[in-house]
Amino acid sequence: MNLGDLNAQQLKAVKTVKHPVLVFAGAGTGKTRVLTYKIWHLIKDKIYSPNEILALTFTNKAASEMKERIQESVNCDNVNVGTFHSIGARILRKHISYLDDRYNSSFTIYDVSDQKALLKEVREELNITESKELNINFLRSQLDKFKNASMSVEEVESKANSFEDKKIAEVYKRYSELLLSNNAVDFNDLIGMPLKLFKHSNALLKKYQQLWKYILVDEFQDTNSPQFELISLLGGKHQNITVVGDDDQSIYGWRGANIDNILTNFKDTFPKAVEIKLEKNYRSTQRILDGAWSVVKNNINRAEKKLVATKDLGEKISLISTGSDEDEANAICDSIKKEIKINKTPFNDFAILYRTNAQSRIIEQTMIREGLPYRIVGGTKFYDRKEVKDVLAYLTLVCNPNDNIALKRIINFPVRGIGEKSITIFNDLASEKGISLFESLKSCRDIKLRGKQQDSIEQFYLSINKFHDLLETLDCKELIRVLLEEFNIENYYKNNPAEQDRYNNIQELKSSVDHFSEKNPGAYLRDFLQEIALYTDLDGYDNSKSHVALMTIHTAKGLEFPTVFVSGLEQGLFPLIRDDDPSDQLEEERRLFYVAVTRAMERVYLLNAQQRRTFGGLKRSSFRQSDFLNEIDKDVIKVKPYKTVRIKRFVRSGGKKTFQISRTVTQFDDFKKGDQVQHNLFGVGTILVLSGTGENQKVGVEFDGGLRKKLIVKYARLKKID
Ligand code: ATP
Ligand code: MG
Repeated sequence: MNLGDLNAQQLKAVKTVKHPVLVFAGAGTGKTRVLTYKIWHLIKDKIYSPNEILALTFTNKAASEMKERIQESVNCDNVNVGTFHSIGARILRKHISYLDDRYNSSFTIYDVSDQKALLKEVREELNITESKELNINFLRSQLDKFKNASMSVEEVESKANSFEDKKIAEVYKRYSELLLSNNAVDFNDLIGMPLKLFKHSNALLKKYQQLWKYILVDEFQDTNSPQFELISLLGGKHQNITVVGDDDQSIYGWRGANIDNILTNFKDTFPKAVEIKLEKNYRSTQRILDGAWSVVKNNINRAEKKLVATKDLGEKISLISTGSDEDEANAICDSIKKEIKINKTPFNDFAILYRTNAQSRIIEQTMIREGLPYRIVGGTKFYDRKEVKDVLAYLTLVCNPNDNIALKRIINFPVRGIGEKSITIFNDLASEKGISLFESLKSCRDIKLRGKQQDSIEQFYLSINKFHDLLETLDCKELIRVLLEEFNIENYYKNNPAEQDRYNNIQELKSSVDHFSEKNPGAYLRDFLQEIALYTDLDGYDNSKSHVALMTIHTAKGLEFPTVFVSGLEQGLFPLIRDDDPSDQLEEERRLFYVAVTRAMERVYLLNAQQRRTFGGLKRSSFRQSDFLNEIDKDVIKVKPYKTVRIKRFVRSGGKKTFQISRTVTQFDDFKKGDQVQHNLFGVGTILVLSGTGENQKVGVEFDGGLRKKLIVKYARLKKID
């Protein structure tokens, strides 16, 4: 790393240390690069030591890449980069009991499925199981809303007027009580609770203000209000803070991100802020930038900025309209194959982006059929699988015996003959005595239970306790192995031929613990569990491998690829809105479009299908083209015709020769009469005649100077001149 790698504006952003800095700039202008170089500069030039700097990124993957790069360059191992959630968890591990002494540092971080399980319990307790309106997803979104607005239970209660609002307030109250008694927190708490801590304890706030003397935030446009408040508190005193972001890339409004943080709030809170604009884009060609800008410029709530490419004009953006989603997938695969053939492009140069996860299935099937290696980034996660979650629940319970959700998940797995009835008995006993469900198991000898339940519960209780005591002495690697054996989990799968997949996944989980232990010597089991709980969709992505990457646009934020396909440009899918949705939702969809297109360095393909299977493939629906395709600047677009061709061959039947359609293939028909083309040897020419289609297409070209040639498209490597 070298400061000479930066342009003048980037350098100014790196070297401005005495004032708050807002780097406000479009995609690919080097914002992340500025942040990385700034941390490096602060450490290398001894302005701050690594542990005095706090850098916040959007994903763990971005954090570890940034960390590694800096550490390699300044030769140290304690650069402090993480996500808001991981830093929040770190603060809570140290101080959570200050908020309530029933919490302790072994708290569990509940993911979405744990949260849903807890909400299910709450609904049952409050007898609202029958209500369709108050379904679990709706309740979750309400809790998110309260927590994003830092609203306490009391505040929500006092504002609830309607019957429904009162019920929701009740749910919030009971949910919070259960989190506390389970010694668990949810995702929002990882930001909200540290915030509460700092608001309640000035001494603690001061301590952290003194500890983190310089704060940096990447992807600032996607911070929500509690996150902004947190950094305002931490950086408010010393004002040593640099944030970088792009309002046009704010795509997490649905999760509470507040675009005003970058548009106005930062400057209001840090009035001495120096605002630096970066206008040179180093990633994409000018046509790609113009295409992305021509759509996002239709947003009203944005700050105007236009990017200038350091690269040349580049190729036009290809637009491929197909009849069906199958053809859309075919067109993507054909285009990839063609590029690989012509340019010898490696697979990991390509990314296929979509608005919704459901779109990946058909693309995946086609990639398999065409023999193209691919990786889905995100989607169903390894750690969400049943057998993996079961083992994780064991590990969680060992760390945090108060966690009832974990306990209930595994109390009867592998089967111990413990039914719902017995669990209810223990639940009642626990509430009566004011102890945890797990502690209540200790009294199993005093309770009348059927069959061998007393023995098995006692055994279970003693074993979990034993592992709890071993936490300090056994390292994670050993602990998981002994635990799998003690509870007979590995053998349970091993001895069942139908469960080999699950058995293999348990092996995979073991290697992931090993990998974690090696990377974090001396780390506790709870640190491993925390890492998993905070896993983001992007974290499993290994771009060094030779695979085409498939992911949602949200996941692709911050990444770059030479060639990007954006699929499903249909009204109602992308933009994913209904006609009566408010305009700010459409604006967020436009920003998503801008993010998708600006991931590309050289080439963009926009695709849409007239018909698509929806509802898990059960229904075929017709779609009209996305309005974004009307908004995009026509000068940067090249429409690529894609059509279905039937290949016929002779067959003999009963001594007669007949035609039969052997295969239906879809293929590009790239050239037409009159097209200007470039040939490596013969120079520029015009197409006079065409015959055949796709790979077998032949063209007759008259080159400048009058030379006429008949060429096979497949071999001629003709380039169309736009
Ligand atoms: P995004 O908005 O997508 O997050 P960004 O603004 O963070 O993008 P970077 O990812 O930092 O941009 O940079 C985009 C690309 O441009 C990277 O490949 C980076 O290495 C390159 N780049 C940035 N600045 C320079 C520079 N001064 N010289 C050469 N390459 C640069
Ligand atoms: Mg970036």
